[in-house]
Amino acid sequence: MLNIDGRQGEGGGQVLRTSLALSLATGTPFRLDDVRGGRAKPGLLRQHLTALRAAAAVGDAEVTGAELGSRRVSFSPRALKGGNYTFSIGSAGSALLVVQTILPALLLAKEPSTVRVTGGTHAPMAPPFDHFARAFVPALARMGLAVEATLHRHGFFPAGGGDVEVHVRPEGAGRVSRFEALDDGRVTAVRARALVAGIRPRVGWDEVTHLAEALALPRDAVGVDELAPERGPGNAVMVEIERERSREIVTAFGEKGVPAKKVADAAAEEARALLAADVPIGEHLADQHLLPMALGRGGEIATVAPSLHTTTQMGLVPRFLPDVRFEARDEGRGRFVITVR
Ligand code: ATP
Repeated sequence: MLNIDGRQGEGGGQVLRTSLALSLATGTPFRLDDVRGGRAKPGLLRQHLTALRAAAAVGDAEVTGAELGSRRVSFSPRALKGGNYTFSIGSAGSALLVVQTILPALLLAKEPSTVRVTGGTHAPMAPPFDHFARAFVPALARMGLAVEATLHRHGFFPAGGGDVEVHVRPEGAGRVSRFEALDDGRVTAVRARALVAGIRPRVGWDEVTHLAEALALPRDAVGVDELAPERGPGNAVMVEIERERSREIVTAFGEKGVPAKKVADAAAEEARALLAADVPIGEHLADQHLLPMALGRGGEIATVAPSLHTTTQMGLVPRFLPDVRFEARDEGRGRFVITVR
């Protein structure tokens, strides 16, 4: 049984999710102490508990510590089972992070799967549905992995109530290709879109107008999606950077009392960093995609400076996959290359 320290690196839910994903994929049991030990309010929150329960269901696992607030967890998977699963987080905790926890296992299972998760789909500090479906899933597809995602309902912070469905067809998992994203071609389009639900649409228009100015976007490259008011309150703004061979999405979330310009500035700054470094993979996609790369045949990505989430993955993954090696190289002017062998 591997002993994992929940305070390492980023010290949050990622250490649990990565350990669960890798335990399922490798069959290695683990014990996690000091769960989310780097957080002001440590222990399992609803999103993490749902991820743990989801992993236990998919891996027919023996589990201890599966309670809200738990600071010690053990997990011993027995066998992977694909099929139909439904999980409910019961808060705005991220539905996509629950999906990412079990996705590698479902890709390794014998049968196809359909997973339905209710919870947050557009909440801060987690991948919004659009990033998952339009950046992460296409990156998996480039490796030969077949995943499809549908958004049935948006779920914002704090209400949650979003609804996501993911189909997984495992047949390609036996012959995945190396993932190479060093140069995905030139930027072919940059677009900005605001989501508003139950708040004045004007807020969304202010955000995309600021973004259009900050990033010198043409008028027809920006828009606002007005969702049913009862889904809110909620607001997010997304910048999509399309290249010849891939796409990245940068997101900032609106909050009560935070001016539209400030939200737009946060998205513009992250988008500018990506465009200036001229790299296809952003900070978040980098930390999320290292795991499928490590479980697959490795590869190389050009990205921005590795975040603490990314370096945490680089430290944790080899605990379960001792043959995997990571290397991050600073190529100057904001461009970093991460190699997975
Ligand atoms: P805590 O940190 O409180 O334990 P958590 O488990 O929800 O909470 P983290 O462990 O911090 O979260 O992991 C957050 C994950 O969400 C990371 O993989 C990060 O890359 C991803 N993420 C955060 N913001 C975005 C974003 N704007 N776009 C895409 N992915 C994001």
